[in-house]
Amino acid sequence: MIECTNCETAQFLQITQSRVYFEDGEMINEISETYECTLCGGTGTYTYAESCDRANVTGDVEVTEERPRFA
Ligand SMILES: [Zn+2]
Repeated sequence: MIECTNCETAQFLQITQSRVYFEDGEMINEISETYECTLCGGTGTYTYAESCDRANVTGDVEVTEERPRFA
């Protein structure tokens, strides 16, 4: 789950941009999402790379628990 670090909630987060990268036409290899908090105006990005099985977040968002691989 993605939360706003300023508001400490996901309630006001909106995905403003979402990209999924495919490999060999079927496998989701990398996910990139841009979030915006409508309450405080904070923005952040979430990326997940299948190849290294690792999530990365930048900006005003944080991952609070395990996120499903194929959300
Ligand atoms: Zn916020």
